[in-house]
Amino acid sequence: EQEVAEYRKSLAICVSGFDVPRPVKTFEDCGFAPELMRAIAKQGYEKPTTIQCQALPIVLSGRDVIGIAKTGSGKTASFVLPMIVHIMDQPELQKEEGPIGVICAPTRELAHQIFLEAKKFAKAYGIRASAVYGGMSKLDQFKELKAGCEIVVATPGRLIDMLKMKALTMTRATYLVLDEADRMFDLGFEPQIRSIVGQIRPDRQTLLFSATMPRKVEKLAREILSDPVRVTVGEVGT
Ligand code: ADP
Ligand code: MG
Repeated sequence: EQEVAEYRKSLAICVSGFDVPRPVKTFEDCGFAPELMRAIAKQGYEKPTTIQCQALPIVLSGRDVIGIAKTGSGKTASFVLPMIVHIMDQPELQKEEGPIGVICAPTRELAHQIFLEAKKFAKAYGIRASAVYGGMSKLDQFKELKAGCEIVVATPGRLIDMLKMKALTMTRATYLVLDEADRMFDLGFEPQIRSIVGQIRPDRQTLLFSATMPRKVEKLAREILSDPVRVTVGEVGT
């Protein structure tokens, strides 16, 4: 334990919450399957970034996580890699419809970047990802969602439009990510986020990532996450 505490300190990792899994040092430590290890290597990722070292084992353990680390620190893979494992762990993948992993991001650019990152790792398993954001034809998006997918990466407004159009159902959704939560707040998406969260089963795993953690974001996180582990890397402002 002392050694774990010192290792965290050396990486400027702060954690709070009960029974926090220890940080990993390598991707091998995460127990990823060979296909996923190959996809990681193909990306040129040699070892986990600091936030990945601590967030990956916690997310893989099934816990809810509040992850705070600056832009460019590799937060995306911290939730995308465990999402692939989560999806592959589902029994009888084909029986139901609708996404298993749902990722919300504040802007279409961010949603698109996450979509690309998710696709790189999903491909090896034949997992289907769809991007849902403004600026694309609603009819085309409706058709794509109707054809089925395991992952949806979306901006909140457009995802709500698609839910209203019954382009998808959330019955299978058990892994929810709110990325760049601070920016989603700044852009006024709190009502949409609450609406989306309310449509996903309460026994889901919920992850919230942000570069900063203002009070109002922390409050929302405490409301919609269950016994979260909070992971902070470096000095982070509120
Ligand atoms: P954040 O969401 O924290 O702003 P990103 O997830 O967008 O950061 O990652 C920033 C960059 O780092 C991306 O180009 C990504 O491909 C790269 N990256 C992520 N993880 C690793 C890693 N383990 N090794 C090398 N590069 C990585
Ligand atoms: Mg990011």
